[in-house]
Amino acid sequence: MNKLEFTLSAGPVEVSAATLAGLAKPIQYHYDEDFKDTFRRVQDKTAQIFQTKNDVIIMQGEAILALEGALKSLVTPGMKVLNLVQGIFGKGTGYWLKDFGADVAELEVGYDDAVTPEMVEEYLDAHPGIEMVCLVASETPSGTVSDVSRIGPICRDRGILTYVDTVSGVLGMEHRTDDWGLDLCVTGPQKCLGGAPGLSLVSVSQRAWDKMYANPAAPRDSYLSLIDWKEKWLGDGRFPYTPSVQDINGLEAALDQALAEGIDNVIQRHVDARELTKAGARAMGLEFWAVREDIMSACVTSIRLPDDVDNAAVRDLARSKYGVMFSHGQGAGNLIRLSHMGSTAGGFHSIVGLAALGRTLSDLGMKLDVGAGLEAALEVLGAQRA
Ligand SMILES: *Cc1c(COP(=O)(O)O)cnc(C)c1O
Repeated sequence: MNKLEFTLSAGPVEVSAATLAGLAKPIQYHYDEDFKDTFRRVQDKTAQIFQTKNDVIIMQGEAILALEGALKSLVTPGMKVLNLVQGIFGKGTGYWLKDFGADVAELEVGYDDAVTPEMVEEYLDAHPGIEMVCLVASETPSGTVSDVSRIGPICRDRGILTYVDTVSGVLGMEHRTDDWGLDLCVTGPQKCLGGAPGLSLVSVSQRAWDKMYANPAAPRDSYLSLIDWKEKWLGDGRFPYTPSVQDINGLEAALDQALAEGIDNVIQRHVDARELTKAGARAMGLEFWAVREDIMSACVTSIRLPDDVDNAAVRDLARSKYGVMFSHGQGAGNLIRLSHMGSTAGGFHSIVGLAALGRTLSDLGMKLDVGAGLEAALEVLGAQRA
């Protein structure tokens, strides 16, 4: 393999030297009071990025662990659930729901589109009895977002539970757990926070706990169990199993950097990177994947490829010829993603991404004005830094 110069993937992202230093701290015994203090501090800092006073649980596996465990804990056989599907993660939630025995209804749109709050409101008004709504705040593989700020309160006002996959939402867009009445939210360190993969960060409202406790099928004494964390760790300071000491230290380093920068500033850095990337891509002659610009996420810009240009070939050529690693759409469609996520959101990263992608696509026969794209992006960058 040729040398890798830049990782511009949509998670896991490149991490800062300070985060690497956190990951490299000495491994402590997990029942050392010093480590237990660290764990509690990291929980409090995680609550800050979730903007919540709810319980925070940190499960020791990539975000899929908590997404699966929480859903299994919440779902009882025959429970009426509305699942919003606008991408592959939402689709996957639906498969789990069916597996766990829910009575599932889906509002599904193309993976380049978004389910609107109006659609949700109309559906809930016409179908009383829905107990939970599941949604994905930011469909990373398509680079589209959902309007959680409106869908959350629509559900809360009707007494309906919300289950929110916001793995690439927290810090990449506004996320207000308590203000929007969100019951169960899951994020991970390896996306907009700029940490390492390996942990699930969860916020759980009292209503969500009540639902889990009322559910005889909720996992207990299981790796998937949230109740174990509630009773053992939050209850009397026992870990259900050995936590990933190094990942907790890495997470704390990433959280410290984000909180020092300020939540709003981190989000703005992602928004600025998107604006720069969009300007460059547009001027180059590229087409966006999303059907509408107002649903494009701030953490990744997805580019629609012509049918005869295969996204896997683009990724491979950019990696081998120019040393730049991109993400493809993980099955969302024939697209390639220019990520600006975590530590790669801002500055010259997107200029590098636009240059490498533009030239790779030219190499593959597309007629593009790479120079015009870079000029446009640099214009925006200069203005943003002024
Ligand atoms: C990254 C991500 C996850 C975690 O899933 P992986 O496939 O393990 O990366 C879940 N949901 C969303 C929306 C994500 O972006």
